[in-house]
Amino acid sequence: MEYQQILEEIYQQILPYAKEGKQADYIPELAKVNPDQFGMCINTIYGETASIEQADTRFSIQSISKVFSLAMCLSIKGDDLWKKVGKEPSGTAFNSLFQLEIEKGVPRNPFINSGAIVMADILLTNLADPEADYLRFVRTVAGNDTIDYNRQVAESEREKGYLNAAIANLLKYHNSIDNDIERVLQFYFLTCSIEMSCRELSLAFLAFANHRRKFDYAGITLTSSQVKRMNAIMQTCGFYDEAGEFSYLVGLPGKSGVGGGIVAIYPLQYSVAVWSPRLNPKGNSVMGIKALELLTSYTKESIF
Ligand code: GLU
Repeated sequence: MEYQQILEEIYQQILPYAKEGKQADYIPELAKVNPDQFGMCINTIYGETASIEQADTRFSIQSISKVFSLAMCLSIKGDDLWKKVGKEPSGTAFNSLFQLEIEKGVPRNPFINSGAIVMADILLTNLADPEADYLRFVRTVAGNDTIDYNRQVAESEREKGYLNAAIANLLKYHNSIDNDIERVLQFYFLTCSIEMSCRELSLAFLAFANHRRKFDYAGITLTSSQVKRMNAIMQTCGFYDEAGEFSYLVGLPGKSGVGGGIVAIYPLQYSVAVWSPRLNPKGNSVMGIKALELLTSYTKESIF
C-alpha cells in the first residue's frame, strides 16, 4: 500500500474544508492556537511510515489522554474498574452533567469527562508519584522522552473549568471519588495538557493497534484481550456524541480531543493520527474526520 501517495492525495481533497469549523476556545490557552494548521502521520505495525504537512508539530492532546488513563486504570484495577465506570456510549455531550445525576454518580464510560475524572482519582490513589508516573508511561509507550505536560494550558483550564468542577462535586457527593476535589481536577487537567505531535501519537497508539505484541510499558501491563476491549470502547465511545457517525464514515476505533487531534487504529495493521484545530459542532476536527474518511475509502480497509 502506497501510504505516502494516499496521504498526499487526501491533503488535496480536504483543502476545500480548511476554513470550516472553529477551534475550541473554552480553554483560554487553546483559543490562542493558530486554527489553520494540519498534520497527519500513519505508522504500520511492520515499520512503514508516511506523513504530510505538520506531522511533527505538537498540540494539546486533551481527551486523547483518556486512552492512556484507561490503559493505566485497567492495568491497576482489572475488571474492578467497571464497578466505578460503565462502558456504554453516553449519547450526551462529553461534559454533560444531567446523565451523571440520573445515574447517581456512575459515569457512562471512561471517555467522557466524568469517567476520566473518576480515573484521575483512581490514579491518584494508586500511583506512588502520579504526575511523574503518568508522564513516564506516556513517554515509554510513545518511545519519546521529551513529551511533557503544558502547565500553562492546565492552569488556564482550571481557571475556567466550572463545568468539570461541577462534575467533580457531583461525583464526590455520590462517593465516586476518594481524593480531594481540587487535587483530582488539577491532575485531570494536567493529563489533558500533554502535548504530542501526530507522529508521536501514531507511534504511541501502535501499542493498541498491535494487540498481539506484549503490552508492558513503564510497569503498565495489559493482556491482549484487555487491549482488544479498549479498542472496542474506542469504537463505541471515542468520538463524543458522534461515535456512530465516525463508525459509519471511517470504520475504525479511535479517540479525538478538543485540541483538534484524532488517533485511529486499524487493528493488526496501522495507527494513524491527524490534527487540525477547527472543530465541528460535536467537537471533532473537521479536516481530521474528512481525512480519515478518505483514508479508509482509498485503502478500502476498515474493521467492517
Ligand atoms: N480538558 C478538556 C475538558 O475537560 C478535555 C475535553 C476533550 O478533549 O474532549 O473539557
